[in-house]
Order: sequence, then C-alpha cells, then structure tokens
Amino acid sequence: MSGPSAPNKLQRVAEKQLTEEIDEVEVDETREREPLDPERAARRRAALARVVQFGDPVLRSKAAPVDHFDEALAAEAARMGELMDEAIGVGLAANQIGALHRLLVYRVEEEGEIHAVVNPTIEWTSDEREPGMEGCLSLPGVWVEVERPAGVRVRAQDLTGAEIEIEAEGFHARVLQHEIDHLEGTLILDRISRADRREAMRTMREAREDGDRD
Ligand SMILES: [Zn+2]
Repeated sequence: MSGPSAPNKLQRVAEKQLTEEIDEVEVDETREREPLDPERAARRRAALARVVQFGDPVLRSKAAPVDHFDEALAAEAARMGELMDEAIGVGLAANQIGALHRLLVYRVEEEGEIHAVVNPTIEWTSDEREPGMEGCLSLPGVWVEVERPAGVRVRAQDLTGAEIEIEAEGFHARVLQHEIDHLEGTLILDRISRADRREAMRTMREAREDGDRD
C-alpha cells in the first residue's frame, strides 16, 4: 500500500473535473503533504522501479504458504522493509517483488517498527465497514476509496515461525487487509465500482505516459 505521498486528492479531483462530469466528490485533505525534495523523489522513483507494476501476472497469482523460517526469509523481509521505506509505502506484499509466498511487511506509524507477517489468515472481521482512501505501490497514480471491515483479527506467524495473533482497527486493519489481498492476487481495483475502476485505469495509463516522457 502506498503512503502519504500518494497523489493529492484535490489535484486528482481537479483533473477529474476537467475530463468528465461527476456528481459528488469526497476530498480527503488529511493526505495533503509537502512535496518531496528532488533527491528523495529520485530515490522513491528508483524504489518504485523495483516494485512489480500492474499488468504483471504475479500480482494476480495466489502466494503459497511459507514453510522455511530461515535466514533467507528474514533477509527477504528486511529487503522488503527497506524497499517499502524507500518507496514511501506503508505496506508491501511478497507478490509485489515477484515472490509468490505468503509474506508481507507493513508499518502504520510513521516512525514505528516495521512488522513482518508470515502466512496470515483473516480469522474475524467486524460487521461494521468503513470507506477509506487507498493507493498501491503497484498501481501508479491510483488513489481510490475502498470500503472494508473496520476491524479484523489476523492469525499468522512471525519470522521465526511462532504463532501470532493481530487485532487491528481503522488504518491498521485497512493496511493488513490490503496486503493480505495481494497474497490472494486481489487488488484494490477489484474492490471498487466499475466507474472508479475505469477512472483508475485511465490514471495509470496517463501516469505511464508521463513516465515515458521523463
Ligand atoms: Zn498494494
């Protein structure tokens, strides 16, 4: 999942209004941030170039359970954490680096610890659902409202293979669900309306064309 530097919704809304008529818009102002300095922006671009992008079938594949809890697994989780940080993301699933096993990393607090989660399954979801804005490191420029359960309980393992249980609400629950979706080959595009998906596809096309011009 992408972090706070995802395209600012106000700007997206302005672009949308130029291209089509829309009846209702929600503006999420909490996501507005200062633009990145050029050096940091370049590092982010380099990191994003190492994240598998939409169109690659690995993003549509189901990841297999991890059964070796060895140094290689810990090293991979560490690399994923670094890549996530460089890309200014809040979560990254193994599919997004082209590895089809059930491993994800995430961090919900800006200066907080990066968590690695292995073989997660969602054991319980709250009846209450809530909408929230999401971006994805594999879907350049896309920033969409996704409705999900507000709370989840996840059963998983840590990098040593020990069983863990995670109770999460709000943004924490959202990030976990987004990353677990990746392990199933599911993207946020599958969780939005057809009209929003069409808009997201257009945004990605434009982002790619801009990239080609760089
Ligand atoms: Zn994602």
